[in-house]
Amino acid sequence: MAQSFAGPPFDLDDLIPELAALGRGTTLLLPKSGSPSVQESSLGGPMLWPVDEPWPSCGQPGHWAWPNEKSPAGTIPMVPVIQLFARDVPELQFPEGMDVLQLVWCPLIHPQDQASSALPKLYWRSETNVLATGALRDIPAPQEGEFEEEFMPSPCTVSPTSVREYPNWDLPQELQQTLKPRIDELEERFGMEYTGLACALQNKVGGYPAWNQSPDWPACQRGHHMEHLLSVTPEEDLDMVMGDLGGIYVFLCRQCPELPYAHRYDC
Ligand SMILES: [Zn+2]
Ligand SMILES: [Zn+2]
Repeated sequence: MAQSFAGPPFDLDDLIPELAALGRGTTLLLPKSGSPSVQESSLGGPMLWPVDEPWPSCGQPGHWAWPNEKSPAGTIPMVPVIQLFARDVPELQFPEGMDVLQLVWCPLIHPQDQASSALPKLYWRSETNVLATGALRDIPAPQEGEFEEEFMPSPCTVSPTSVREYPNWDLPQELQQTLKPRIDELEERFGMEYTGLACALQNKVGGYPAWNQSPDWPACQRGHHMEHLLSVTPEEDLDMVMGDLGGIYVFLCRQCPELPYAHRYDC
C-alpha cells in the first residue's frame, strides 16, 4: 500500500510541463490513532450529531458479514467514518451555511451494491445549529457479528495537509505513452515509482480518487460528471485504520442543488 505522500519532492511541473495542467490540490488527512472529540475532525471518531435526528441505520435485506455470512435481523446502526470541520479543510467548498461534513456507512457487505462494499451516507451540517439543538450523546454501535471488520475504522485524529498531486489511473493513456521515457527517468533518479512521487493514494479530500484499479467515474441521475469528494483507503503504517479492503471513493454533483453523491469501491 502507498506510503504517506507529502507532495512531489521537486517541481514536477517544471520537469514534465505536460503534467502541470493536470495537477490538482488535495487535502491529505494523515490519520493517527487517537481519541478525537465530537468537535474535532476525525476518521472513525465520534460525531457531532443533532439529538433530535435519529442516528442512521441500514436495513438492506441480504447485507452480511464474515464469517457467518448471515444477515442480521432488523436494522444495523451505521458507523462514523469521516467528520470534517470547514476550519480544518479550507480548500473544501461547503454548501452555504454548512461547516461540517460527515460520512457514515453500514459496515456490512451489500450484495446489491455495485461492488459489495459498505454503504456510505453523507451529511452536511452547521456546527452552530447542532450545538443549539444539543448533540446526541450515545451513538449506537453494531454488535459483534453485525459488522465486517474491514469496514470498521478505528478512531483517529487527522492532520489535514494541502498538497498538489497528479493523476495515476486518470492520466490519459496517450499522454502516458508520450511521457513514459521521462517518467522512467524520474523514477530512476528518485528511486521511487511515479505513483509514490506524484499521487496521493491515501485518505484525502479532493484531488484525484485514490483508485487501485481503472477509473469508474460516476455521473449523477441528470448525467453530470461528478467530482471526487474524498477517498477512504486502508493505510498500512497505521494500526488498523481499516483492514485489508480496497478504497471507497465518494463523489458529489455540485451542479444539482440537492448535491447528490455516489460511491465506488475497488480493491
Ligand atoms: Zn447495510
Ligand atoms: Zn447533477
